[in-house]
Amino acid sequence: MSSGRETKMRTPEGAGIDLSLWEKILNAVRSQHPSLNRLWFDQLVPCSFSNGVIQVQTQTPAQLSFCQTQCQQPFTQAAQAVTGRLVAVRFVCDNIPAGGVFNEGDQPHPLNPDYVFENFVTGPCNRLPHAASLAVAEQPGKAYNPLFIHGGVGLGKTHLLQAICQKVLERQGDARILYLSCDSFINQFMSAIESGDMNQFRYRYRQVDMLVIDDIHFLAGRDRTQEEFFHTFNTLYQNHKQIILSADCPPSEIPELEERLVSRFNWGLVARIDKPCYETRVAILHKKARIRGLHLNDDVVCYVAQKIDTNTRELEGAITKLQGMGMLNGGKIDLELAKAALGDNDTPEQKLITIQQILDIVTKFYNVRPADLQGKKRHKSIAFPRQICMFLARKYTRYSLEEIGRYFGGRDHTTVLHAVRTVGDNIKTDKEVASQIAQLESQLTNS
Ligand code: ADP
Ligand code: MG
Repeated sequence: MSSGRETKMRTPEGAGIDLSLWEKILNAVRSQHPSLNRLWFDQLVPCSFSNGVIQVQTQTPAQLSFCQTQCQQPFTQAAQAVTGRLVAVRFVCDNIPAGGVFNEGDQPHPLNPDYVFENFVTGPCNRLPHAASLAVAEQPGKAYNPLFIHGGVGLGKTHLLQAICQKVLERQGDARILYLSCDSFINQFMSAIESGDMNQFRYRYRQVDMLVIDDIHFLAGRDRTQEEFFHTFNTLYQNHKQIILSADCPPSEIPELEERLVSRFNWGLVARIDKPCYETRVAILHKKARIRGLHLNDDVVCYVAQKIDTNTRELEGAITKLQGMGMLNGGKIDLELAKAALGDNDTPEQKLITIQQILDIVTKFYNVRPADLQGKKRHKSIAFPRQICMFLARKYTRYSLEEIGRYFGGRDHTTVLHAVRTVGDNIKTDKEVASQIAQLESQLTNS
């Protein structure tokens, strides 16, 4: 395409950008950052090019937030490479709803554009929580209140919570939604106490239409925050405002949670997400690949689905890995490559290791029970193997500190960080520990 009149996007000031230029930028990003690529990049509209800045319209606040946090650099680099000039790409959005989603800090819109209902695959493992989420999104405050979704790490809780928020916003742009992690709630509560700003804190939480708190099990043992949350809950509930919570276990199993909260969490619907079965894993892999504009053959998908049966996060990790290795392989992703990526031949360093494997190997090695490592015991004979699990999980998996802590007995991220450092230090100073870790690592990468 030449830079004829029709191919230029016009802005009010008349500055335009050649669409074929934009195509080139987009292609450059897609080929250089495959894991970043999203199908909806097609909906991005370059709306102006002036003073060295290419302004790009996103369609939704969630897209805007994704682009601002993850795409600024790659797009700017691509734009510079394509134009040969020192330009920058800036993302904007005209469709910011009047209400919207709030959380703490400076990020105005914490939602992930991928976490919508359209991208959620259903199966026997998640039919109930999915149906309940849809019902709540259609009739907030009426269908189930509260909605409490629980299940293990990486099974889609956050995805469903965010899908509800996005659906509600789609239907009602001025809905006031507060979506945040339990950690943020605790932190905000603490700083409100410190600064003596409790009124403002209360007002903020009690005037919303919908309160969504992810990973509510972090309230465990937080007496004062629980007390405050109890009142927030009551106020919203009495005003028929929707409350949605997620946790890694049902309400009654959250340690040190006040009885009156347990009973309230059970008032509405408690729905569990289980691990996806084989068929669901196949469907999820197809879906995830498609979202990234990637085509995977059936034999590759079936192989991955067979190989990884832990959770969806790890399935996604596998896709990222395949995509990365596919690039080195001239874009070809076949069964052979998949086997190499997931460790069916002798390329151990490229293998995907699951947190379950770590737990299995460490429990066997130290002759302890998995329940102990995932429980509360603090005796050294348990605590040390647990720290080693955390160390290995940090090194070999894609889980965050929070998630690792949660998996190993509901501990917070500072505990995990401490464990990672302690083991790291021990390896340097203690030959015995170093040798144990070496044995464990060799079992992990060769299993
Ligand atoms: P959790 O909050 O339960 O730890 P997430 O919601 O963060 O898990 O899910 C982990 C990843 O797996 C996310 O990328 C999410 O999109 C994906 N995922 C989980 N369940 C599904 C599903 N049923 N369909 C599609 N993607 C899923
Ligand atoms: Mg989550």
